[in-house]
Amino acid sequence: MRIGHGYDVHRLKEGRDLVLCGINIPYAKGLDGHSDADVAVHALMDAILGAASMGDIGRLFPDTDSAYKNISSIILLKKVMELISEKGFTVSNADVTIIAQKPKLAPYIADMVIELAENLSVPQSRVNVKATTEEKLGFTGNELGISAHAVVLLNEP
Ligand code: MG
Repeated sequence: MRIGHGYDVHRLKEGRDLVLCGINIPYAKGLDGHSDADVAVHALMDAILGAASMGDIGRLFPDTDSAYKNISSIILLKKVMELISEKGFTVSNADVTIIAQKPKLAPYIADMVIELAENLSVPQSRVNVKATTEEKLGFTGNELGISAHAVVLLNEP
């Protein structure tokens, strides 16, 4: 088995859609970025690439490339899965933590798990998504941004 960790942060901004784990979440603000800025999927992709020793998403999908402007991060995740599949890796399980003061994410967690499990080609019982706040401390607590951590185990070929 191979383990990988990913971490990402995006700034909250008015006039953007909020997309987390591929799910659209109704909220007054969204995350700013070159792609759809799905911070949770970004952390997840970096965890997968980390476990496979295949670099990071900044290297694979540079934000200087207009091909990735406003792209759904789920499409990028599909590309990452193709790349690791070519090397014979499969996902064992994934655990994602989203850190946000607002909005309340509990109502969306089940849909997030379904979306990630489908894209990781694993049963839903092998994907965990959780949300926490930082007790109004720091940039997430002050609602300036949202961060995410992910840990992934890959099965080696
Ligand atoms: Mg990012």
